[in-house]
Amino acid sequence: MSERKVLNKYYPPDFDPAKIPKLKLPKDRQYVVRLMAPFNMRCKTCGEYIYKGKKFNARKETVQNEVYLGLPIFRFYIKCTRCLAEITFKTDPENTDYTMEHGATRNFQAEKLLEEEEKRIQKEREEEELNNPMKVLENRTKDSKLEMEVLENLQELKELNQRQANVDFEAMLQQYKEYEEEQKRREQEEDEQEMKAMLEQAQNRRLLADSDSDEEPAKPGTKPAGKARPTDVLQEVSRAQSLGHPLLLLPGSRAAALGSALFLPSLLPVTHEQLRKRAPGALGRKETGING
Ligand SMILES: [Zn+2]
Repeated sequence: MSERKVLNKYYPPDFDPAKIPKLKLPKDRQYVVRLMAPFNMRCKTCGEYIYKGKKFNARKETVQNEVYLGLPIFRFYIKCTRCLAEITFKTDPENTDYTMEHGATRNFQAEKLLEEEEKRIQKEREEEELNNPMKVLENRTKDSKLEMEVLENLQELKELNQRQANVDFEAMLQQYKEYEEEQKRREQEEDEQEMKAMLEQAQNRRLLADSDSDEEPAKPGTKPAGKARPTDVLQEVSRAQSLGHPLLLLPGSRAAALGSALFLPSLLPVTHEQLRKRAPGALGRKETGING
């Protein structure tokens, strides 16, 4: 078995390699290769997006009469995945990249284009300044002015940020919540008060109706309509003051609530005891008599 794996082959003494016929192949021969799309692109024919990394069976050829520093440049042909239109791109050894050629547009190139533009402007400026000292000076002043402006803008932005940083949203929300609660409470209180007033009114009416039917003097009638409004007391007090009775300045006392009439008898010849002796209903009548 060892003769099957010989390393040396026998060459006859008259062997001449130049006599071996050479395989004649055309220079622009195309090969089929498997490749991935080197960048995102969009088909110009149908608008389909072809993403970087999509695999294709492409044809590869060497670009004739185009080299970069002696390196050959290759062209690839792929077909759009939707409309089968042919798309071609080339290798770009100068930028270690690929360039779009036909059938599609390259996407996501904004940054690259911007960089290129900046580089171009910089180069132009350098060339301009190379033999023009005035231009150098001009550019330098322009630069310093621009720098100042940028710094000012930055300062302004910083200040703005600081001002906004002082806004405490939590506190604001809390404040608003408290305000809302306060309002709700006030509303409730008002509702309750109104309800109470209405209830009292209804009660008074009923009592009035009762007294009418019984033909009795309406004691509650003389009583001012309760403490429906807290300011009623004040009115009573002022009335008493106008009558010249500082004694009646007893806020919250029964006298203040009922009015000046109750206390007047103590200063008149008729004493309180005398009044007490009478029926409670008569007291009301007496009051009205004094008042009226
Ligand atoms: Zn297409």
